[in-house]
Amino acid sequence: MEQLHRASSLLQLDPATLTILEHPRRTIQVSVAVRMDDGSLRVFEGYRVQYNNARGPYKGGIRYHAQTDMDEVKALAFWMSVKCAVVDIPFGGGKGGISVDPKMLSHGERERLTRGFARAIAEVIGPDTDIPAPDVNTTPEIMDWIADEYAKVVGHAAPAVVTGKPLASGGSEGRGTATGQGGFFILESVRQKIGLDPETSSVVIQGFGNAGQSIARLLHRHGYIIVGLSDSRGGIVPDHGLDPELVHQHKEKTGSVFGFPGATDVTNEELLVHPCGILIPSALENQITKDNAHSIKAKIILELANGPTTPEADTILADAGVTVVPDVLANAGGVATSYFEWVQNRENTHWTESEVFTKLEETLRIAFEDVWAVKEQYQVDMRRAAFVLAIRRIKEAMRVKGWM
Ligand code: NAD
Repeated sequence: MEQLHRASSLLQLDPATLTILEHPRRTIQVSVAVRMDDGSLRVFEGYRVQYNNARGPYKGGIRYHAQTDMDEVKALAFWMSVKCAVVDIPFGGGKGGISVDPKMLSHGERERLTRGFARAIAEVIGPDTDIPAPDVNTTPEIMDWIADEYAKVVGHAAPAVVTGKPLASGGSEGRGTATGQGGFFILESVRQKIGLDPETSSVVIQGFGNAGQSIARLLHRHGYIIVGLSDSRGGIVPDHGLDPELVHQHKEKTGSVFGFPGATDVTNEELLVHPCGILIPSALENQITKDNAHSIKAKIILELANGPTTPEADTILADAGVTVVPDVLANAGGVATSYFEWVQNRENTHWTESEVFTKLEETLRIAFEDVWAVKEQYQVDMRRAAFVLAIRRIKEAMRVKGWM
């Protein structure tokens, strides 16, 4: 809301538009009863928030995390509305989640929980109404279970109800690495604007999951030096640059990046303030706060995670001359490629990875230039510029629909 208000004061937004944007259109909370492997029954709370659909069907991922609650899902759903408008795809914003630590569940329990959740929300999702996707701790396999369960409820296959599916069931080439790939394209655009040499650019990445791993591999391949990585257990800082593939193999064997040979183990707090040129938060929200923003050494922060920087930290970083590339632009490669998957499903077609990434690069290049133009026009940071751009677009869609 603070981010919305900062942008709306610049735009001198009318009270009616602001009021609509301050409230999700629909919030749904469901209880999902799951038979556990030991025969007991447990009930999990699940959420779906449909924030704004002025520009198209609600779109947004589903998160499985112990700390997930309705407030978190609402914030994420609002960001999705902004993000889809920034990259100018015909979707609104939504988000979902279940309060659960999926690592405590067996494969079968995860499947029963997912299918139960899909049945509980089936009547409010659909290819033309609300289209879920993966987020933290959810995978292509989980998306496939949702599509399968939805098909049973409506009585026919409808793969476009969910994106991020496996290739075998209508997924798009490139979706698995799209968020990292998109972040890379955006970083390239930033590099051209402010002049940055990969060979002398050191990078720290917090979070080594879908988003973090894919950008780590791309940056490594393009000559950037990775000087820190982490996951939920903690971080590693090497004597020399890290090879993400070797770290991945270590994580596969041991369950964590922690203890990687030739690197020193650090806490996640230490990792964030480790000396580097580019910091890429790729884990969870509220990691860069007023308590650590002053100590951050990076000159560029590329937000692959959603909401990693608090508004207070934003102000501190702007004053220190740090370029923060906001989540709603930096990680939009995921949702843009989800849109491409949805289009392919609707058209019963299949694009090659190179077609997907060509379209992705073009979409993100235009979005970046649009944001940069607003930044220059108002002389503001990129987050505020992205919000101004998005709110203008959403407002126009609401106006032509006669919502206010
Ligand atoms: P993921 O579950 O694949 O990976 C999350 C990673 O973060 C894991 O390595 C985990 O160990 C680590 N982590 C968790 N808590 C941590 C902590 N406190 N400190 C350090 N690391 C921690 O999830 P993901 O899909 O890569 O999503 C990561 C972020 O990117 C989230 O904010 C998500 O909303 C955002 N995002 C993801 C996508 C996508 O397509 N997957 C798209 C846009 C945005």
